Amino acid sequence: MPEILEVESYRRLADRVVGATIVRGWADAYSAKKLTSIAAWARSVKHRTVTGTGRRGKLLLLDTDGVRLGMRFGMTGVLLINDEAGIDGLFYGPHTFRSDWVRGGLEFDDGRKLIMHDPRRMARFEIDPDLSALGPDALALTKSQFAGVVATRGEGPPIKARLLDQSAVAGVGNLLGDEILFRAGIDPRTPTGRLNDDQRADLFRAFTQTMRTLQRRGGSHLGDHMDGRHPGAFCPLDGATMLTATIGGRTTYWCSSHQR
Ligand SMILES: [Zn+2]
Repeated sequence: MPEILEVESYRRLADRVVGATIVRGWADAYSAKKLTSIAAWARSVKHRTVTGTGRRGKLLLLDTDGVRLGMRFGMTGVLLINDEAGIDGLFYGPHTFRSDWVRGGLEFDDGRKLIMHDPRRMARFEIDPDLSALGPDALALTKSQFAGVVATRGEGPPIKARLLDQSAVAGVGNLLGDEILFRAGIDPRTPTGRLNDDQRADLFRAFTQTMRTLQRRGGSHLGDHMDGRHPGAFCPLDGATMLTATIGGRTTYWCSSHQR
Protein backbone atom coordinates (compact mmCIF):
# COMPACT_ATOMS: atom_id res chain seq x y z
CA MET A 1 0.00 0.00 0.00
CA PRO A 2 1.37 3.44 -0.83
CA GLU A 3 2.30 5.20 2.37
CA ILE A 4 3.79 8.66 2.77
CA LEU A 5 7.24 7.65 1.49
CA GLU A 6 5.77 6.24 -1.70
CA VAL A 7 3.58 9.32 -2.19
CA GLU A 8 6.66 11.50 -1.71
CA SER A 9 8.26 9.51 -4.57
CA TYR A 10 5.16 10.16 -6.70
CA ARG A 11 5.51 13.86 -5.88
CA ARG A 12 9.07 13.85 -7.15
CA LEU A 13 7.90 12.11 -10.33
CA ALA A 14 5.14 14.69 -10.75
CA ASP A 15 7.78 17.45 -10.46
CA ARG A 16 8.71 16.56 -14.03
CA VAL A 17 5.46 17.99 -15.38
CA VAL A 18 5.86 21.36 -13.65
CA GLY A 19 5.68 23.99 -16.38
CA ALA A 20 3.68 21.78 -18.75
CA THR A 21 0.18 22.74 -19.85
CA ILE A 22 -2.71 20.29 -19.61
CA VAL A 23 -4.60 19.73 -22.85
CA ARG A 24 -6.92 17.06 -21.53
CA GLY A 25 -7.89 15.40 -18.29
CA TRP A 26 -9.90 12.25 -17.83
CA ALA A 27 -11.24 10.27 -14.88
CA ASP A 28 -13.35 7.14 -14.55
CA ALA A 29 -16.30 6.68 -12.20
CA TYR A 30 -14.01 5.41 -9.41
CA SER A 31 -11.28 8.04 -9.41
CA ALA A 32 -13.96 10.76 -9.73
CA LYS A 33 -15.96 9.56 -6.69
CA LYS A 34 -15.04 12.58 -4.54
CA LEU A 35 -15.85 15.04 -7.35
CA THR A 36 -19.23 16.57 -8.16
CA SER A 37 -19.17 14.66 -11.48
CA ILE A 38 -16.84 12.71 -13.75
CA ALA A 39 -16.75 15.69 -16.10
CA ALA A 40 -15.62 18.04 -13.31
CA TRP A 41 -12.05 16.76 -13.56
CA ALA A 42 -11.77 17.28 -17.34
CA ARG A 43 -13.40 20.70 -17.10
CA SER A 44 -11.26 21.96 -14.21
CA VAL A 45 -7.87 20.91 -15.57
CA LYS A 46 -8.15 21.92 -19.25
CA HIS A 47 -5.62 24.56 -20.36
CA ARG A 48 -4.14 24.80 -16.86
CA THR A 49 -0.39 24.94 -16.45
CA VAL A 50 1.20 22.99 -13.60
CA THR A 51 3.06 25.43 -11.37
CA GLY A 52 4.28 23.16 -8.59
CA THR A 53 3.80 20.03 -6.52
CA GLY A 54 3.15 19.45 -2.84
CA ARG A 55 2.07 16.79 -0.42
CA ARG A 56 0.29 16.58 2.91
CA GLY A 57 0.60 13.12 4.36
CA LYS A 58 -0.60 10.69 1.73
CA LEU A 59 -2.36 13.38 -0.33
CA LEU A 60 -0.39 14.48 -3.41
CA LEU A 61 -0.98 18.06 -4.52
CA LEU A 62 -0.53 19.49 -7.99
CA ASP A 63 -0.74 23.27 -8.14
CA THR A 64 -1.84 24.89 -11.37
CA ASP A 65 -2.45 28.47 -12.48
CA GLY A 66 -6.12 27.85 -11.70
CA VAL A 67 -7.12 25.09 -9.36
CA ARG A 68 -5.15 22.93 -6.94
CA LEU A 69 -5.45 19.23 -7.76
CA GLY A 70 -5.31 16.43 -5.22
CA MET A 71 -4.56 12.74 -5.72
CA ARG A 72 -5.10 9.94 -3.21
CA PHE A 73 -3.70 6.51 -3.95
CA GLY A 74 -5.87 4.18 -1.86
CA MET A 75 -4.55 0.64 -1.50
CA THR A 76 -2.86 0.07 -4.85
CA GLY A 77 -2.66 3.39 -6.68
CA VAL A 78 0.53 4.21 -8.57
CA LEU A 79 1.46 7.36 -10.46
CA LEU A 80 3.05 6.90 -13.87
CA ILE A 81 4.36 9.10 -16.65
CA ASN A 82 3.71 7.80 -20.11
CA ASP A 83 5.72 9.30 -22.94
CA GLU A 84 6.94 8.11 -26.32
CA ALA A 85 9.75 6.17 -24.70
CA GLY A 86 7.36 4.14 -22.59
CA ILE A 87 6.03 4.12 -19.09
CA ASP A 88 8.03 5.46 -16.21
CA GLY A 89 6.66 5.12 -12.73
CA LEU A 90 6.99 3.79 -9.30
CA PHE A 91 5.73 0.29 -8.94
CA TYR A 92 6.72 -1.54 -5.78
CA GLY A 93 6.18 -5.17 -4.88
CA PRO A 94 4.68 -7.55 -7.43
CA HIS A 95 2.94 -5.63 -10.14
CA THR A 96 1.47 -5.72 -13.60
CA PHE A 97 0.50 -2.87 -15.84
CA ARG A 98 -2.91 -3.19 -17.44
CA SER A 99 -4.48 -0.40 -19.46
CA ASP A 100 -7.91 -1.16 -17.98
CA TRP A 101 -6.47 -0.37 -14.54
CA VAL A 102 -5.75 3.20 -15.59
CA ARG A 103 -8.31 5.27 -13.68
CA GLY A 104 -7.58 8.64 -15.19
CA GLY A 105 -4.93 11.24 -15.61
CA LEU A 106 -3.70 14.34 -17.37
CA GLU A 107 -2.39 14.77 -20.90
CA PHE A 108 0.07 17.58 -21.58
CA ASP A 109 0.85 19.75 -24.59
CA ASP A 110 4.18 17.96 -25.03
CA GLY A 111 2.44 14.60 -25.45
CA ARG A 112 3.24 13.17 -22.03
CA LYS A 113 0.56 11.73 -19.82
CA LEU A 114 0.45 11.58 -16.05
CA ILE A 115 -1.50 8.43 -15.22
CA MET A 116 -3.23 6.99 -12.15
CA HIS A 117 -2.95 3.18 -12.30
CA ASP A 118 -5.03 1.41 -9.67
CA PRO A 119 -6.27 -2.21 -9.78
CA ARG A 120 -8.30 -1.91 -6.55
CA ARG A 121 -10.18 1.27 -7.62
CA MET A 122 -9.66 3.14 -4.33
CA ALA A 123 -7.57 5.99 -5.73
CA ARG A 124 -9.30 9.36 -5.94
CA PHE A 125 -8.88 12.71 -7.68
CA GLU A 126 -9.80 15.89 -5.86
CA ILE A 127 -10.17 19.51 -6.88
CA ASP A 128 -9.11 22.13 -4.33
CA PRO A 129 -8.89 19.48 -1.55
CA ASP A 130 -9.70 20.48 2.00
CA LEU A 131 -6.48 20.28 4.01
CA SER A 132 -8.04 21.41 7.28
CA ALA A 133 -8.85 17.83 8.34
CA LEU A 134 -5.20 16.77 8.05
CA GLY A 135 -2.62 17.12 10.80
CA PRO A 136 0.99 18.24 10.24
CA ASP A 137 2.97 16.28 7.67
CA ALA A 138 4.78 13.24 9.07
CA LEU A 139 7.91 13.72 6.96
CA ALA A 140 8.52 17.20 8.35
CA LEU A 141 7.16 16.73 11.88
CA THR A 142 8.77 19.07 14.41
CA LYS A 143 9.19 18.38 18.10
CA SER A 144 6.48 20.84 19.07
CA GLN A 145 4.09 19.36 16.50
CA PHE A 146 4.87 15.93 17.93
CA ALA A 147 3.94 17.18 21.39
CA GLY A 148 0.53 17.95 19.94
CA VAL A 149 0.22 14.45 18.49
CA VAL A 150 0.67 12.78 21.89
CA ALA A 151 -1.30 15.37 23.89
CA THR A 152 -4.59 13.93 25.14
CA ARG A 153 -7.27 14.55 27.69
CA GLY A 154 -7.30 11.50 29.91
CA GLU A 155 -5.95 8.21 28.60
CA GLY A 156 -6.75 8.80 24.97
CA PRO A 157 -6.61 6.11 22.28
CA PRO A 158 -3.91 3.42 22.02
CA ILE A 159 -0.73 5.07 20.72
CA LYS A 160 -0.85 3.01 17.52
CA ALA A 161 -4.34 4.34 16.76
CA ARG A 162 -3.19 7.88 17.46
CA LEU A 163 -0.27 7.55 15.06
CA LEU A 164 -2.67 6.36 12.34
CA ASP A 165 -5.10 9.24 12.98
CA GLN A 166 -4.53 11.47 9.93
CA SER A 167 -6.00 14.49 11.72
CA ALA A 168 -3.31 14.14 14.41
CA VAL A 169 -0.40 13.59 12.02
CA ALA A 170 -0.77 13.15 8.27
CA GLY A 171 0.99 10.29 6.54
CA VAL A 172 1.66 7.47 9.00
CA GLY A 173 0.30 4.22 7.57
CA ASN A 174 0.10 0.80 9.15
CA LEU A 175 3.66 -0.37 8.41
CA LEU A 176 5.28 2.90 9.43
CA GLY A 177 3.24 2.97 12.64
CA ASP A 178 4.40 -0.51 13.62
CA GLU A 179 8.01 0.25 12.69
CA ILE A 180 8.06 3.46 14.77
CA LEU A 181 6.73 1.63 17.86
CA PHE A 182 9.10 -1.31 17.28
CA ARG A 183 12.06 1.06 17.23
CA ALA A 184 10.79 3.04 20.22
CA GLY A 185 10.22 -0.16 22.23
CA ILE A 186 6.63 0.81 23.03
CA ASP A 187 3.62 -1.52 23.23
CA PRO A 188 1.14 -0.28 20.56
CA ARG A 189 -1.78 -0.77 22.99
CA THR A 190 -0.40 1.78 25.47
CA PRO A 191 -2.95 4.56 25.99
CA THR A 192 -1.46 7.73 24.50
CA GLY A 193 -2.04 9.66 27.72
CA ARG A 194 -0.07 7.11 29.74
CA LEU A 195 3.22 7.51 27.87
CA ASN A 196 5.81 8.88 30.26
CA ASP A 197 8.38 11.54 29.38
CA ASP A 198 11.06 8.99 28.48
CA GLN A 199 8.68 7.11 26.20
CA ARG A 200 7.64 10.33 24.49
CA ALA A 201 11.27 11.21 23.85
CA ASP A 202 11.97 7.69 22.54
CA LEU A 203 8.90 7.85 20.34
CA PHE A 204 9.84 11.17 18.75
CA ARG A 205 13.39 9.93 18.10
CA ALA A 206 12.06 6.68 16.57
CA PHE A 207 9.52 8.63 14.51
CA THR A 208 12.04 10.88 12.78
CA GLN A 209 14.58 8.06 12.47
CA THR A 210 12.04 5.71 10.86
CA MET A 211 11.02 8.33 8.29
CA ARG A 212 14.63 9.10 7.40
CA THR A 213 15.84 5.51 7.31
CA LEU A 214 12.98 4.03 5.31
CA GLN A 215 13.03 6.90 2.83
CA ARG A 216 16.71 6.11 2.25
CA ARG A 217 15.99 2.38 1.93
CA GLY A 218 13.21 3.08 -0.57
CA GLY A 219 9.85 2.46 1.08
CA SER A 220 7.70 1.82 4.11
CA HIS A 221 7.81 -1.95 3.50
CA LEU A 222 11.57 -2.06 4.27
CA GLY A 223 11.42 -1.66 8.04
CA ASP A 224 13.36 -3.66 10.64
CA HIS A 225 10.20 -5.27 12.08
CA MET A 226 8.95 -6.68 8.75
CA ASP A 227 10.39 -10.18 9.25
CA GLY A 228 8.28 -10.44 12.40
CA ARG A 229 5.14 -9.60 10.51
CA HIS A 230 3.41 -12.97 10.20
CA PRO A 231 1.65 -15.31 12.64
CA GLY A 232 4.11 -17.29 14.76
CA ALA A 233 7.02 -14.99 13.90
CA PHE A 234 9.87 -14.08 16.23
CA CYS A 235 11.25 -10.63 16.91
CA PRO A 236 14.07 -9.82 14.45
CA LEU A 237 15.78 -7.90 17.27
CA ASP A 238 15.72 -10.32 20.22
CA GLY A 239 13.99 -13.54 19.09
CA ALA A 240 10.97 -13.15 21.40
CA THR A 241 7.47 -14.06 20.21
CA MET A 242 5.71 -11.45 18.11
CA LEU A 243 2.12 -10.60 19.07
CA THR A 244 -0.66 -9.44 16.78
CA ALA A 245 -4.01 -7.71 17.21
CA THR A 246 -6.22 -5.26 15.38
CA ILE A 247 -5.51 -1.78 16.72
CA GLY A 248 -6.93 1.39 15.19
CA GLY A 249 -8.65 -0.87 12.67
CA ARG A 250 -5.38 -2.27 11.32
CA THR A 251 -3.45 -5.52 11.81
CA THR A 252 -0.65 -4.67 14.20
CA TYR A 253 2.46 -6.68 15.07
CA TRP A 254 4.69 -6.08 18.06
CA CYS A 255 7.32 -7.81 20.19
CA SER A 256 6.24 -9.47 23.44
CA SER A 257 9.59 -8.62 25.01
CA HIS A 258 11.14 -5.30 24.05
CA GLN A 259 7.93 -3.33 23.36
CA ARG A 260 6.47 -2.34 26.72
ZN1 LIG B 1 11.85 -7.71 20.45
